[in-house]
Amino acid sequence: MVQSGSHMDDYAVRAMGAGGRVLVVAARTTSLCEEARRRHGTWPTATAALGRALTAAGLLSVGLKGRQSITLRIVGDGPLGGIIAEGRAGGFVRGYVHSPHVHLPIRTDGKLDVGEAVGRKGFIHVTRDLGFGQPYTGSCQLVSGEIGDDLTYYLARSEQVPSLVGLGVLVGEDGRVLAAGGILVQRLPDGDGEADQLEANVRAIGPVSRAIEAGRTPEEMIETALQGFETRILGRQELRFRCTCSRRRVKRLLLSLGPEEVRSWVKGTEVICHFCGRRYLLDPKELAEAELTHRGERDPT
Ligand code: ZN
Repeated sequence: MVQSGSHMDDYAVRAMGAGGRVLVVAARTTSLCEEARRRHGTWPTATAALGRALTAAGLLSVGLKGRQSITLRIVGDGPLGGIIAEGRAGGFVRGYVHSPHVHLPIRTDGKLDVGEAVGRKGFIHVTRDLGFGQPYTGSCQLVSGEIGDDLTYYLARSEQVPSLVGLGVLVGEDGRVLAAGGILVQRLPDGDGEADQLEANVRAIGPVSRAIEAGRTPEEMIETALQGFETRILGRQELRFRCTCSRRRVKRLLLSLGPEEVRSWVKGTEVICHFCGRRYLLDPKELAEAELTHRGERDPT
C-alpha cells in the first residue's frame, strides 16, 4: 500500500452484490481530510466532523458524470454552526465548517465528540445537481449529529433507500489526520432478507478509521461488507480535495450574495473563498461594483 501523503492515495471503489440488489462504496479519504484540516486550520473535533462530511460527499459522488454534484449541509445547534461538503464528478471534494476552532472534551469511549460539536437538533440537507434543470434538495432532522447516523436516516427516510453508512476520521496527538475513510451500503427496499447479513458484515469491519489505520484497503472493506454475496467490482475513483473557485467566479458570487453574506466573504480588499481558504485581492473598483449592487442601485446583470 502507498502511504505517500499525496492526494493520489485516496480513492473509492464501487461494487455490486447479489446481482445488483446491493450497492457498496468504500473509500479511503485520509489525504483529503488532512488537506481540509490544513487549509481551514480546524481543531480536532472540527477536523473529525468536517472529515466525516467530506468523506460522505466523496462516497455519494462516485458515479457522477459531467457537471453533476452532490452537496451536504449539516446544520445543528452545536458550536460548529454548520458544515458544507460538496462532491463532484471526477472525485473532487471540497467543504468547510462554519467555526473551525472547535475542540470538545473526548468522550468516555475515547472518541472525538462530533455529535456534541454538530449538535443533536438541526437538519441535514442533501442537494443533488444532475447538471441540468433545478437541483433537487431533500432534508431531514438530525438524529445524533454524528453525521454517519444522520445520513443513514436521511437516505432511508427522504430517498427511500435503506442504507448503512460508516464514516471515520482518526486525528493524531499533533492534530493531523492519521486515517480516514467511509463505507456506504445500499440495498433494495424489499431486501429485508439481506439486511441482517449486511449489518453483521459492516459490523465486522469495525470503526472505519481504525480499519484504514490498520492498512485495510477499500477493496478489502468491500470484500467484508459483501461476504456471502456474489460480488462484482464496478469501478475505482480517485478522490481529492479540490475547489472550483477562480477570480471570475468569486466576483460573480459576490454579485449574487446578500450584504451580510458579502461581509463574511470580504475582508478589507480581499475575498476569501470559504471552501478552500484561497485569497483573491480585488481592486477598489471591483469591490465598489459588488456593493453598489447590494444597495439596489444597479441591476445585477
Ligand atoms: Zn475555493
